[in-house]
Amino acid sequence: MLTHTLSEKTAFYLQLEDQFGAHNYHPVPVVLERGEGVFLYDVEGKRYYDFLSGYSAVNQGHCHPKIIQSLIQQAQKLTLTSRAFHNNLLGEYEQYITSLFGYDKVLPMNTGVEAVETALKLARRWAYDVKGIAANQAKIIVCENNFHGRTSAVISFSSDPSSFSGFGPFMPGFEIVAYNNIVAIEKAFQDKNVAAILLEPIQGEAGVVLPDEGYLKAVKSLCEEYNILFIADEIQTGLARTGKMLACDHEEVRPDILILGKALSGGTLPISAVLCDDEIMLNIRPGEHGSTYGGNPLACAVAITSLQVLKDEKMAENATAMGNLLREELAKLNSHVIATIRGKGLLNAIVINHSNPDAAWEFCMELKENCLLAKPTHGDKIRFAPPLTINKEQILECVDIIHRSLKILS
Ligand code: PLP
Repeated sequence: MLTHTLSEKTAFYLQLEDQFGAHNYHPVPVVLERGEGVFLYDVEGKRYYDFLSGYSAVNQGHCHPKIIQSLIQQAQKLTLTSRAFHNNLLGEYEQYITSLFGYDKVLPMNTGVEAVETALKLARRWAYDVKGIAANQAKIIVCENNFHGRTSAVISFSSDPSSFSGFGPFMPGFEIVAYNNIVAIEKAFQDKNVAAILLEPIQGEAGVVLPDEGYLKAVKSLCEEYNILFIADEIQTGLARTGKMLACDHEEVRPDILILGKALSGGTLPISAVLCDDEIMLNIRPGEHGSTYGGNPLACAVAITSLQVLKDEKMAENATAMGNLLREELAKLNSHVIATIRGKGLLNAIVINHSNPDAAWEFCMELKENCLLAKPTHGDKIRFAPPLTINKEQILECVDIIHRSLKILS
């Protein structure tokens, strides 16, 4: 077991959190106090490359000056009205985001999981009001090893015991099928009560699991054949992360319901959104769904700028180029402890092959010592997902850090 010693200052902050905070996370023992672009700085002033980007919330880089400027300017003017009243930014934001993604309407929420919940409610309502499924019979198909958040409804269809164990009873109306298996989906679609399929175009939390090429297109075409809604959870894969504005764009698939979150605010505050056309959206009427903070003017100002910055600074294009470079350079390391290198754009993962079950964690501790922050997911997988502003020289430096850190496992 590795025991890198912690400074007194770091130990102080860790102890505070341990004593007064819930123990629902197992963070890497580093205490951060500043971020700029691709870098994070700890309380000792040590600089790190961020290879997690707040689980892809910080695609635009930490404290992007334009996003922070929008945040400050709007915060000094008006932050929240609630939806009891109108505000002068909501309509502008709604027009901007719907025309950017090509949908009739948007429903603004805050966290990712709230947007997932919203999409599920929209799908159920469409099932009853439009498709004609009998009351309370609607079924939603989801995929094995999914991650869509932490609410009681959403963990009801998780296949990961650490997400759902001990939290029952669970919400009915979901069926789990194998990911990347079109036959399993078609079989599930035989049930006439199926309203929708919810899926991640790439499974992020599961360890950046990419389906075969053509999978999304095939799912979408089955959805059309069986009159079933395709709901894409692009909370982690969307907003330029994989080299396109949406991961579904790689296969030119247009989801019936699109869920966005995370980088919609560039890591500044929780902003999420559900987009779809009138046939689906207008079945929810006044008083039937909402959120106090959803669509607040601060969020609207920040979301517009966060989206503009992605486009203006060509972050999708950079994600493609830097992602290709990262995977190529990692492959050149030819390391026997890296079993797999996979990803799209700058959403990547490696799988560690080592007899020690804690190897991935220990490797991440060594990366931290060497100034790069990453965290294992599901034991042996480590995501490599830096902000999309990273450049070639920085990628090469990071690969060098990874190379040096691998020695700890030899
Ligand atoms: N959906 C996906 C694909 C995610 O990756 C996440 C978070 O990691 C969520 C939903 C939940 O988002 P939030 O943590 O903002 O509720």
